[in-house]
Amino acid sequence: VIHYGEIGTKGKNREVFERKLLSNVSRVLRSEVKRVYRRYGRIVAELSGDEDLERIKEKLRWVPGIEYFSFARSVGLKMEEIEKVVVEILKVHSFTSFKINTKRSNKEFPLTSMEVNRRVGETVVKILGKKVNVIRPDVMVWIEICEKEAFVYTEKNKGIGGLPTTTGGKLISLLSGGIDSPVASFLMMKRGCKIIFTHFFNQTLVTKALLRKVEKIVKELTKVQLDSKLYLVPFSEIQKEIIKNVPSNYRMLIYRRFMMRISNRIAEMEKAKGIVTGDSVGQVASQTLENLRCIYEVAKLPVFSPLVGMNKEEIVELAKRIGTYQLSILPYPDCCSFMISPHPKTKASLKKVIELENLIPEKERLIEHCLSRLETKTFSFP
Ligand code: ATP
Ligand code: MG
Repeated sequence: VIHYGEIGTKGKNREVFERKLLSNVSRVLRSEVKRVYRRYGRIVAELSGDEDLERIKEKLRWVPGIEYFSFARSVGLKMEEIEKVVVEILKVHSFTSFKINTKRSNKEFPLTSMEVNRRVGETVVKILGKKVNVIRPDVMVWIEICEKEAFVYTEKNKGIGGLPTTTGGKLISLLSGGIDSPVASFLMMKRGCKIIFTHFFNQTLVTKALLRKVEKIVKELTKVQLDSKLYLVPFSEIQKEIIKNVPSNYRMLIYRRFMMRISNRIAEMEKAKGIVTGDSVGQVASQTLENLRCIYEVAKLPVFSPLVGMNKEEIVELAKRIGTYQLSILPYPDCCSFMISPHPKTKASLKKVIELENLIPEKERLIEHCLSRLETKTFSFP
């Protein structure tokens, strides 16, 4: 039984969100279960009993829109049947105290939730000789009384919440090889956005084998959005021109302005509605408010940086949780640190940046040339 939380607040659009979640859940469980359907404001996936529950858990854990899910027994709407199943389930647990927690969405059912709790509780005490503890029970038993059946379970598995993939529209995410940008991408996926990844690399620094690192990160994140596309953007020609024309303490800013322009062009091609970056205010030289202003200024679409207010420690913790940290710390040459000053300008003025950038001849041609040599990779889960 799969529960969604936030979707329930979507009023008229609720149906659209529910259908999308159903189709995403069906897709991840395609090879696991026979039937998945929507019922009583929940999603129900029918198990035959010989499935690999751990594998199902690991898959559902990452589906945006799921608040929590449980492996439940379906029972007819008769008290005797419910009591029998609760006793059967509890028999295989070792515990001393328990609590029954009933939720009744079916208001026709003759007993109230409290009455069900009391009756089932008494039965368990009588048959199994266990104690009720409503504050800190060893085992919690949930009973959901719906229109045509009840569900009984003892474990709630937390999902990532948020909104179903693709209900939020498309975004282009600037994915470096670092720790932050995969986390930023994940956070936007959690809000129902479909992420298209772009990675800029310097062909003189990075080999095809090294690019595998970025591909591994995208592959890991694909467990969340199920299909991913990665644009690999060859950046060495543009970097060469920047190095030739711009003093070293301004180069990083100008690299990033070109990345922003090219991502905006890719967004146009992809009909995406915004750009995502892993920026966090003040973390590195390029991320002072002044410098972010200089970088974002060239964007035509809104730029979303979900990590803006997070500390590095918090970002690292999330990266570990979502499984990208171990990949992000693999060695990889960062093209942004290629031929820059050890003391990059920390509070650049936009006027100065534009002046310096204008020293680079044929900027448009450089961008077009770069766009004509994009490579793409696609990924699917599972
Ligand atoms: P990250 O851990 O994501 O690399 P960071 O703290 O190291 O972030 P920078 O390397 O300055 O900071 O990059 C800031 C942001 O710029 C990144 O989060 C990413 O969105 C974007 N970016 C930087 N380098 C690249 C790149 N080579 N390709 C794509 N995007 C990049
Ligand atoms: Mg970085």
